Amino acid sequence: ELILAIESSCDETSVAIIRNGAEILSNIVASQIKSHQRFGGVVPEVASRHHVEQMTLCIEEALLQAQVTPNDLTAVAVTYGPGLVGSLLIGLSAAKAFAFAHQLPLLPINHMAGHIYAARFVQPLAFPLMALLVSGGHTELVYMQADGQFEIIGETRDDAAGEAYDKVGRVLGLKYPSGKEIDELASKGKDCYHFPRAMLNEENYDFSFSGLKSAFINLVHNAHQKGESLSKEDLAASFQASVVEVLVTKTLRACQNYPIKQFVLAGGVAANQGLRQALTQAFQEQLPHVEVLIPPLRLCGDNAAMIGAYAHVALKQKAFGQMSVNALPSLAFERKTE
Ligand code: ATP
Ligand code: MG
Ligand code: FE
Repeated sequence: ELILAIESSCDETSVAIIRNGAEILSNIVASQIKSHQRFGGVVPEVASRHHVEQMTLCIEEALLQAQVTPNDLTAVAVTYGPGLVGSLLIGLSAAKAFAFAHQLPLLPINHMAGHIYAARFVQPLAFPLMALLVSGGHTELVYMQADGQFEIIGETRDDAAGEAYDKVGRVLGLKYPSGKEIDELASKGKDCYHFPRAMLNEENYDFSFSGLKSAFINLVHNAHQKGESLSKEDLAASFQASVVEVLVTKTLRACQNYPIKQFVLAGGVAANQGLRQALTQAFQEQLPHVEVLIPPLRLCGDNAAMIGAYAHVALKQKAFGQMSVNALPSLAFERKTE
């Protein structure tokens, strides 16, 4: 089984060839970051235009690197949501055209399912499992009883973790997206500002990061007005300490209360070194029987390989899409009802 997978939900144009949902033959990622940086965020119009320019090249390059021809393929998989509607539509149109031209079935894939299945390249998934999805637009704890079954047990009430990183990064004068740079600064600083740890002791698995963001911005602005300069390293370390403590504490609590075999860290913020280390250590100390899967850095951010990993499940479940399938910008997993 060989799947050609396409991802274009935000600002990465990516095409991958995946064998049996487990082996990456190629994974081309064309980032547009440079074009968006001067605007301090992703400009949807600009993103769509780049996807149009890059898509065909990425498809050709993915086939070339994998040494695969369209005739060898089993199916075409593509992200159909969530994401920017214009960006999604470019990938979806390319996938439909390719599938039609080569008489291949089409598999529409949820981008967030893809993020979780990036862990499949570390180890086969074993259920039940708990996933912490932390990305630019999402922060959620997802419980999975089996392949393809996703239940949100907790999520952010306001900003996503990645969004908070990018917003405080802007206040520090860092380039977008600033998660990686804050992570690096944090490793050189100390948690001396003790920002709030929102919802830490509440009896739920929800998160909130907007209060932390405001506390951070206020501190920086007040210091600025008084003509004081604060250490970027200490600010970054203090911010990250708050984010990591809340994420780790609530994740561990959820994992203690559900009968899980594995824990998966997923999404762009899964690249965070502080979070990776803190979670690994917490599981070793408190839940040593749970297998912890953390994808390699290049599979944490948006990429088509993860879409191809989940496509293997979609194919088994015959979750095919018609040519009429549309982009769903707010596609989401269901929230577990108590
Ligand atoms: P979503 O997946 O929710 O639709 P997205 O696809 O835009 O959103 P991703 O590409 O999964 O998001 O992740 C991007 C986010 O990850 C950005 O907010 C970025 O700042 C953050 N990020 C990347 N590396 C790090 C890091 N080392 N530490 C913290 N955040 C990081
Ligand atoms: Mg991106
Ligand atoms: Fe993403």
